[in-house]
Amino acid sequence: MLDIQHTEAVIREVYDEPWCGNNIALSILRLDALHPTVSGNKIYKLHYFLQKAIQQRSMVITFGGAYSNHLAATAAACRHYGLGCVGVVRGEEPGNLSPTLRYCLQRGMHLEFKSRKDYSQKEEGQFLENLGLQFGEHILIPEGGFSAAGVRGAAQIYNSIRDRSYTYICCPVGTATTMAGLLKSASFSTEILGYSVLKGLDVNERLAFLLGTPLPENYRVISNYHFGGYAKKTDDLIDFMNRFYDKHLIPLDFVYTGKMMYGAVDMIKQGYFKEGSRILCIHTGGLQGNLSLAPGTLKY
Ligand SMILES: *Cc1c(COP(=O)(O)O)cnc(C)c1O
Repeated sequence: MLDIQHTEAVIREVYDEPWCGNNIALSILRLDALHPTVSGNKIYKLHYFLQKAIQQRSMVITFGGAYSNHLAATAAACRHYGLGCVGVVRGEEPGNLSPTLRYCLQRGMHLEFKSRKDYSQKEEGQFLENLGLQFGEHILIPEGGFSAAGVRGAAQIYNSIRDRSYTYICCPVGTATTMAGLLKSASFSTEILGYSVLKGLDVNERLAFLLGTPLPENYRVISNYHFGGYAKKTDDLIDFMNRFYDKHLIPLDFVYTGKMMYGAVDMIKQGYFKEGSRILCIHTGGLQGNLSLAPGTLKY
């Protein structure tokens, strides 16, 4: 790994009646603790892009919405390595910047706002050519790191785990890059459960695109814990996150890890996992996103 990572990722076992009472072990890989903002899976997904940018002393251009953990992580990482960076932001410039975009500006990221219509063309040749004309030589990182290089970086998450005996590994799914990385690297005896946080996203199609190989069989997409869609939430979800923090002192974010954890615990209660299962949930970070919640919503 590049030296931006503050500490090694630790695995914490958590204990509560629904699983302990059924002889199921539940652990959490705390990628959220790797770095205050380049947290979680983003450190891994950015790895090969940053390495190339550092080697070529090149600036970085990437994309995201106003609350994007990916933009925040890229801004912090580029600051750390002294790289220039541009964040192409979906939507017109608002009068009031989100906490995420303010954070990006403070880290020296140049923000380039694009209307939703223009933004939707961001993979087109003309759009990319214009970026080159405007900013010059650069390393382009697709939104959310969605690419083979992002997958290779995310595969290092599994390689950092020494214990290979988990029955299940759970992760939240946005672009599916992290899940693809886990699938690429994990042992076939471990089943990867991906909790989609978007409504109606075809995760299988994304995995096929990202891996470029026939899909293995040791995975399952769980698509009924999106709570209404991307960045949508319910009181039930927020209550769960507050109770989870009270019990285990582990903060979750409401866009990704809260939904995955809610889903995993709910499936435990419904008897989805066999007795003796060992489950590892990946805390992919993203806690900065909670700043967009009204003060007092969460206890932490
Ligand atoms: C970006 C992000 C994800 C989504 O990861 P993908 O690789 O895009 O599926 C999951 N969790 C957190 C906290 C994130 O910030």
